[in-house]
Amino acid sequence: MPSSQRFAAIQQIQRRRPVSTPPIAGLDELWASDVFGLDTMKSALSGRVFKSVQRTIKEGGKLDLSVANAVADAMKNWALARGALYYAHVFYPLTNSTAEKHDGFIVPKGDGQAIAQFTGKLLVQGEPDGSSFPNGGIRSTFEARGYTAWDITSPAYLMQTPNGMTLCIPTVFVSWTGEALDKKTPLLRSNSAMDRQARRLLTLLGETEIAPVASSCGAEQEYFLVDSALVALRPDLQLAGRTLFGRPSAKGQQFDDHYFGAIPERVQVFMQDVERQLYKLGVPAKTRHNEVAPGQFEIAPFHEAANVATDHQQLTMTVLRNTARRHGFTCLLHEKPFAGINGSGKHVNWSIGNATQGNLLDPGKTPHTNLQFLLFCGAVIRGVHRYGPLLRAVVATAGNDHRLGANEAPPAIISMYLGSQLEDVFNQIRVGELSGSSKGDTMTLGVDTLPEFTKDPGDRNRTSPFAFTGNRFEFRAVGSGQSVAGPLVAMNTVLADSISWIADQLEQRFKAGESLNTAAFAVLQQVMQEHGAVVFGGDGYAAEWHRIAVEERGLENLPTSADALPVLRRPEIRELFERHGVLNAVELDSRFAVYAEQYALAVEVECKLALQMARTLIYPAAMRYLNELAAALQAQQAMGLAPSLSQRDRIGALLQELTSACEALEQALDSGEHHDDPLNHIRTCADTLMPLLDQLRAAVDGLEAQLDDGLWPLPTYQELLFVR
Ligand code: ADP
Ligand code: MG
Repeated sequence: MPSSQRFAAIQQIQRRRPVSTPPIAGLDELWASDVFGLDTMKSALSGRVFKSVQRTIKEGGKLDLSVANAVADAMKNWALARGALYYAHVFYPLTNSTAEKHDGFIVPKGDGQAIAQFTGKLLVQGEPDGSSFPNGGIRSTFEARGYTAWDITSPAYLMQTPNGMTLCIPTVFVSWTGEALDKKTPLLRSNSAMDRQARRLLTLLGETEIAPVASSCGAEQEYFLVDSALVALRPDLQLAGRTLFGRPSAKGQQFDDHYFGAIPERVQVFMQDVERQLYKLGVPAKTRHNEVAPGQFEIAPFHEAANVATDHQQLTMTVLRNTARRHGFTCLLHEKPFAGINGSGKHVNWSIGNATQGNLLDPGKTPHTNLQFLLFCGAVIRGVHRYGPLLRAVVATAGNDHRLGANEAPPAIISMYLGSQLEDVFNQIRVGELSGSSKGDTMTLGVDTLPEFTKDPGDRNRTSPFAFTGNRFEFRAVGSGQSVAGPLVAMNTVLADSISWIADQLEQRFKAGESLNTAAFAVLQQVMQEHGAVVFGGDGYAAEWHRIAVEERGLENLPTSADALPVLRRPEIRELFERHGVLNAVELDSRFAVYAEQYALAVEVECKLALQMARTLIYPAAMRYLNELAAALQAQQAMGLAPSLSQRDRIGALLQELTSACEALEQALDSGEHHDDPLNHIRTCADTLMPLLDQLRAAVDGLEAQLDDGLWPLPTYQELLFVR
């Protein structure tokens, strides 16, 4: 029998019924109905203004004020007609969250009347005074002003709550001195850098008509749903987003009965509600299913331009969280809410392409497109090898540390999976068997007949952090709670850099009179000889791979954030971002400072909370049980029976462990309070605090196994994962 509080929560859950929402309108009626998209603009704007907007979206640059005024007016009228009285500049600070600054359209007139007003200036420039957003020292507080500006490539939309609408405008957030304070600005810059270099390479390949090249992203979001009545009894889920204590339930995920099983009705009703809202917002939700762990699910959209996909990904997280609440659930986006079962990731599917050449990571059907593919793919190989530690650093968060390197997610060693077919081709290139020397117009050996590299589900290696999946790469080490912007910035920049190197090599070889094929294969051979070590098709979880990767292949193993984040301070990383105009040194330093601080704060909050829970919830419960035991043992003795003391002694020992773990943790927390140096600070978190937290957890979980269930204060794993 669970404790009375837990029992009441379970009863409440059993009385729950799926929350019905109004019948679904057809897709036509629903799709993007809350988006101020191109269609809406076209009908609301004059031909001249609309063309100018289209041109700015396509070619970048600033809207001129007369155009901005016209757009702002149309936007305001559209929003007012839908019932919005406020607008918000939405921006993406360095914390993985979404931030909003709300303002009313209202302007009072002296005569007691009020009108709604929204100008081009307000559209393209807001001033949110984001002085309390972490900025890593870019601005001191006395001059802590930044401004937001509409990113015209991402459309405005209406956010609905039961009580009305708000017009939301996706923006960049920069300081008055021009430094990026957000995640969107570098993403846009990284896309331009990649575009510049990709067009250069396409030109060298003989293309004459080349449309702007953009990166695309489709992010698969994993999450857990736990009933809110149970979450209310777990301070750790409320504050840290994960369970700090909890014994594995006797049944976990070992039967594999949840994965792709029938979706529970209450959950499906929730999912449909989420999807409907996303459709209205123009987010192309496309797949839903159960994930591996009990209570774990996934939602994935159709891929879109990386910038829009990133905004939509943030929206998806917001909609998931808010909708869950209405359905009596709490949506956990943490990377590892429960020990002992799978955590949640966010696979970032990524490719680059344009309107004229199509997807540049698609092998294609002709020798020419195959050569193009091999060069772009070779650029990815080089980039992932050269900057593997950077790719590790951009997924370094306190939550993700619990996942990476456990046997459920890719290891903290960045390697790359190509699939056996493609790996074979690149290995042949490495040893010079597949050469580009041309006889007349056709190439020798296989290249002209490269088979289609189809996505073969049987051949997909789930243990690789970075995998080729037919026409794109899938970065699988990204955490479920993260913004996808950081990983996309890194991938775009790294690719830009490698394409640029390849283009340099080709230019030199052309000058020396080499043909395209000969030059291309020589460059690819060099790429494979210098960077082929990153290609690995085997089991990424195997201990043997971890040894080989480090000792024989020279790859880095960076198990914790404390190991990975300092990569951002390496000179070659600074040079990489500066060379391509993505982040300057100040901006990069500020990112290190903010991410290190976020990591340390997350660890410290967990430690403080664990301490509090152990002392105020667990210890009293254990003492109560000891009292009961003592009374029972006395009664036994009074009856002339030999008391069995083993249970009392076990609990006594665990209580001793708990008390000393608490003391050690408290001491470590106190002594770590005045850290000036972020490097020391995060090291202390990883090397001292986390092991102490584990120690405390072991004592608490041990007590959970011994105490009377009726006294245990926290909902158990069994209840959290299976009561729905
Ligand atoms: P799986 O679970 O097999 O990896 P999903 O269908 O769950 O596949 O997710 C695949 C994701 O990859 C989707 O978001 C999809 O739109 C995206 N995707 C497909 N093709 C591309 C591409 N060329 N570039 C970027 N993303 C892509
Ligand atoms: Mg996938």
